[in-house]
Amino acid sequence: MKIRKEVLRLALEIARESYPNEFVALLTGKKGVIEELLFLPFDSGESSAIIHLEMLPLGYRIYGTVHSHPSPSCKPSRADLDMFAKHGIVHIIVCYPFEWGCWGFYDKNGNEIRLEIVD
Ligand SMILES: [Zn+2]
Repeated sequence: MKIRKEVLRLALEIARESYPNEFVALLTGKKGVIEELLFLPFDSGESSAIIHLEMLPLGYRIYGTVHSHPSPSCKPSRADLDMFAKHGIVHIIVCYPFEWGCWGFYDKNGNEIRLEIVD
């Protein structure tokens, strides 16, 4: 599984803008490459962000989710693991201070995985 550099850059930028709240988006793309963030309405707070998946447009392949942590921990919380299990196979957490490299990649069980970053 691969991810475009631009997608990570954008996720970090939005995380900074949303701080101290979290943001959540879905990861979409094609042929095993995550190419875009898909924003849906969500409820954001300082401890949680819930996606309204019923608003998902048809025809998108959802690879997984990305969300931010306003803390320096990129570890998934209990609620994150529930979300991971439900939506896709790749999950990204970006954490404070949202610099390049401030992220964790996880599978649907919350195990850390490697994603190849491509241009
Ligand atoms: Zn989280």
